[in-house]
Amino acid sequence: MNLALKVSGLVAGIPSKQILNGLDIEVPFGEVHAIMGPNGSGKSTLCHVLTGNPAYEVTAGSVLLDGTELIGRPVDERARLGLLQSFQYPTEVPGVRLREFVFEVAVAHGLSPEEAEERIEREAARFGMDRFLDRSVNEDLSGGEKKRSEIFQMAVLRPKVALLDEIDSGLDIDAVRQVAEAVEEMRSPEMGTLMITHYSRILRYMTPDRIHVMIDGRIVDSGSRELADELEAGGYEAVRQRLGLVKQTTAEKRPSDFFTETPFDV
Ligand code: ADP
Ligand code: MG
Repeated sequence: MNLALKVSGLVAGIPSKQILNGLDIEVPFGEVHAIMGPNGSGKSTLCHVLTGNPAYEVTAGSVLLDGTELIGRPVDERARLGLLQSFQYPTEVPGVRLREFVFEVAVAHGLSPEEAEERIEREAARFGMDRFLDRSVNEDLSGGEKKRSEIFQMAVLRPKVALLDEIDSGLDIDAVRQVAEAVEEMRSPEMGTLMITHYSRILRYMTPDRIHVMIDGRIVDSGSRELADELEAGGYEAVRQRLGLVKQTTAEKRPSDFFTETPFDV
């Protein structure tokens, strides 16, 4: 059986800078994997490259989605083949009800109108989104509710691979727990989930099948619970030291590098 996602030897970046330096990752159907990494390690770049953002160029490697090569295909074709990414910062769409919005997207993805309606009802009940269906998309929702709404939308569309970038950023700890539960709830044998985050705290509330640590554009370590514990206790520095990786001092600091949300985000 094919893997949901198989990334091999991926080298990519922007024209002036190589950001991914030979990245490998495999996500089987039915599993939830987490990529954890410090700011600037290339996590968002990986998402952009997987979804086909034309600002990024691929110089080597392969990205197979259920056995089909994605490199070289346009964004919309990748979505049609079954790769979907949640938005890092969900926007509000005043005047458009969530029900209509999801319906339009689902029909555009090839669902029949009846099928779309039926799935919207079922998944809204499952993710506790019933009361939001007839409100404007994301309007007046808390950060956690917006993320839950996104996961609900993904559950309606049922991609083969769900990419969740920074799923827990900017959320208080209760909202992080709710998002973790929603990611677990979305699990399905027909889908592989790749969630990407800087913070290890979401791992207190869920157990991904595998955790991968990304540093300097590569996956440097993979494991399960014990890796989450190491990250929670010692941060990325502990992993760097264990693997003998030298911290790059030339990295430019960005505004996001100066924010931390919990004492654990070393
Ligand atoms: P992460 O999501 O892990 O914080 P990013 O993928 O956003 O990391 O960024 C990795 C590195 O590549 C950073 O040094 C960042 O500044 C740089 N980078 C990413 N995208 C661009 C871009 N479009 N233009 C310039 N630099 C970029
Ligand atoms: Mg990022």
